[in-house]
Amino acid sequence: MIDLRSDTVTQPSQAMRDAMAAAPVGDDVYGEDPTVNRLQEMAAALLGKAAALFVPTGIMANQLSIKVHTQPGDEVIVDSRAHIVKYEHGAAAALAGVQLHWVNGHRGILAPEQVLAAIRPSDPYNPQTRLICLENTHNSGGGSVYPLPTIQRIRALAVARGIPMHLDGARLFNAVVASGVPAADYARHFETVSFCLSKGLGAPVGSIIASDAGTVAKLRPLRRMYGGGMRQAGILAAAGFYALEHNIARLKEDHEHAQALAGQLRKIPSVSLDVAGVETNIVLFEVNDPSRSSSDILGTLKQAGLLINSVGGMSFRAVTHLNVSAQAIEEAGRIFTRILTR
Ligand SMILES: *Cc1c(COP(=O)(O)O)cnc(C)c1O
Repeated sequence: MIDLRSDTVTQPSQAMRDAMAAAPVGDDVYGEDPTVNRLQEMAAALLGKAAALFVPTGIMANQLSIKVHTQPGDEVIVDSRAHIVKYEHGAAAALAGVQLHWVNGHRGILAPEQVLAAIRPSDPYNPQTRLICLENTHNSGGGSVYPLPTIQRIRALAVARGIPMHLDGARLFNAVVASGVPAADYARHFETVSFCLSKGLGAPVGSIIASDAGTVAKLRPLRRMYGGGMRQAGILAAAGFYALEHNIARLKEDHEHAQALAGQLRKIPSVSLDVAGVETNIVLFEVNDPSRSSSDILGTLKQAGLLINSVGGMSFRAVTHLNVSAQAIEEAGRIFTRILTR
């Protein structure tokens, strides 16, 4: 089976498992797990931040970041199709008690003018804008990369008004590899930055929040409150450390595979797809065939040995990752051509 549903389906390699088995561990709620500490130091250094915190999931990283910057009733500016809006079960409202102010970005990328228009006036009648969240790469935007100058302009607006910024960088290293912009050059424009170890980087579990030391000290008890205080978590952190050491540069291959797949898909008459829009490892496309349903297409592809996800209507998403070889991509292209040309 060729599994292109998500880059979360990766399997830890034997070398990663060996690193996990060999990891020295301690009680991380006491701050005594040497492997967790080592991972946090490495992640902070990569992002040019003073400190970092290992958390179980990307959602927890986002939600702790929202919580640490806000009070109930505050407003948070975010793209309308952000992961925080679409895929986090309403957690920002349920757990932090904030109101999300949706802005319709282009492929998930907000224009500085849109952010400016969404910032509430400071008066006794409006909710107060206390946080701006950006997502890089943008998942629902098709793996789109935030242009650094756009981030810089949004940052200038935020700084002038004293509004902190959080980066949902679940796939930050895909953006880094695609753009050549170092992670720290993105990260310096945000008070908190999160990224997932469990997506394209190939670890089985874990995410990071990087920030200044004072904010990380506030995040620690909040992490425990949210149920994310883990004990001998070094077994998991070792996989994350291994991923950061070995699996960043190779993301380039995933991007090349996504390009190759997009090239095959666009030759199929019923498929519409913007090849230029495939910037990283996510391929979004639409099938224009009124005789078929989305579940029919998913079922037929599955029978032929190919798994992808529907993203609503007749739109689909294929994601490349480290367990998909160049040959598997070629085979996926053949399966798509056979199933979608009828
Ligand atoms: C996957 C993802 C997350 C976090 O997901 P978890 O499943 O909680 O690890 C957050 N933001 C974006 C953009 C994502 O793609």
